[in-house]
Amino acid sequence: MDPYTIFGDIVAGRAPASKVYEDDDVCAFMDIRPITPGHLLVVPKIPARSLAELDPAVGGKLFAVGQRLAAALRASEVGCDGVNFFLADGVVAGQEVFHVHLHVIPRTVDDGFRL
Ligand code: 5GP
Repeated sequence: MDPYTIFGDIVAGRAPASKVYEDDDVCAFMDIRPITPGHLLVVPKIPARSLAELDPAVGGKLFAVGQRLAAALRASEVGCDGVNFFLADGVVAGQEVFHVHLHVIPRTVDDGFRL
C-alpha cells in the first residue's frame, strides 16, 4: 500500500490545515469536512497506516491529547454538551485516510448526528 497520505503532508507543514495542537509525537487539526462544528483529528507524527503499526505509547498519547481537546471543546465557544471519540481501522471499518487518526467530535443535543 502507498505510504503517502495527505496527513503526512499536514504534519510536515507541506499542506495547509488548521492546527490546534502539536508536540513531539502528535498533531491535531480541524477536519476539512466536519461532522459537527469543531470536529478535530489527532494523528501521530510518525505515520502508521493501521493500529497494528502504531506504537502503543503513541496510541496512549493520541487518547490523552484527545482527552485534553475534548475538555477544551467543552469549555470553548463551540459549547458542546458531549464528545464522541471515533477511530476507523481498516476499509471495512470506514477508514479512508491510511494514517491513523482519532476523531474528536463535539456533540450538542440538537446537532442531528446519529452514530
Ligand atoms: P476516516 O474515514 O479515514 O476515519 O476519516 C478521514 C477524515 O479525514 C474525514 O473526516 C475527512 O473529512 C478528513 N480529511 C480528509 N482529507 C483531509 C484533508 O486534506 N485535510 C483535513 N483537515 N481533513 C481531511
